[in-house]
Amino acid sequence: MPSMNPLKNRSWTLLLLLAVLTFGIGCGSSSPIVREEVTPVPIPIEQAAERLQVHFIDVGQGDAIVIITPSGRVVLIDAGPPDSASALVAAMRQLGIWQINLAIITHAHADHIGGFQAILDAFPVIRFGDPGYLHPSAMYASLLERILDSELPIYELRQGQWIQLEDEIRAVVVSPAQDLFSGTRSDANANSIVLLLTYREVSFLFMGDAEAETETLVANCGLVDQVDVLKVSHHGGRHSSIPQFLAVARPRMAVILCGTGNSYGHPSPETLERLDPYAINGIYRTDLHGTVSVTTDGSQIDVVTERSIPQEQAQVAF
Ligand SMILES: [Zn+2]
Repeated sequence: MPSMNPLKNRSWTLLLLLAVLTFGIGCGSSSPIVREEVTPVPIPIEQAAERLQVHFIDVGQGDAIVIITPSGRVVLIDAGPPDSASALVAAMRQLGIWQINLAIITHAHADHIGGFQAILDAFPVIRFGDPGYLHPSAMYASLLERILDSELPIYELRQGQWIQLEDEIRAVVVSPAQDLFSGTRSDANANSIVLLLTYREVSFLFMGDAEAETETLVANCGLVDQVDVLKVSHHGGRHSSIPQFLAVARPRMAVILCGTGNSYGHPSPETLERLDPYAINGIYRTDLHGTVSVTTDGSQIDVVTERSIPQEQAQVAF
């Protein structure tokens, strides 16, 4: 292992300190871990009529998802890769956001956390959620160091906890379980935070970069039934979206976040084929559609995409 420079050593000291002092807040609790009154963001008039907004932002090869509740609470799930950070900030400003109530780090890979430094430069963030899997990367260590230096609360999220965003809007942590996965194809991916968001009759399932083991856990945990909108695991990679999971989640609509012409071959043809029988309301892809915005009143779902393409093309253009 290469020797670490003093800054990295300092980061790791702080990281371990974080692990001891602040991770675990809310762990094992069966009550909502976040529920407070906050000043809402101003919502454009046309969006104000009790609509929940979920924006799957086109950040190239990576994830960034912005949730805005009807009263203006903001949740950011991941912040994309570093090279899309300024575009993400601009997109969030365009949505009228000035504050983030909860920022979720699904896992520590660069295509999910690369934009958080720019986010912290641009917006007050009230609190963070993190899986607590101590991934040995300098980018993750420096993010945790900044969070610690700023004295922002960071919650280690575990299966069964939930975040009450509004009376009728709840985000339930589906994964990771109390014991983290180890020995998988990618433990960082396998321990991604998986969130189930419900508003009245409508549900969204955000899978991070879940591996097959995670999807098996999600399928068997009893927290997930048919979902309306699935944020597909791991950019549509072929190791995820396993049949056993899809048979439980039965997503009516799927969204895949991936970069145009990415070198990983995401999404894979096999994954698109497996999703196809379920996703009768469409498979949306940020590489083809650009940013995908879903709004709902808790009953009806509307989808607006940055670019318009024939749906058939979205399903077969791999
Ligand atoms: Zn990823």
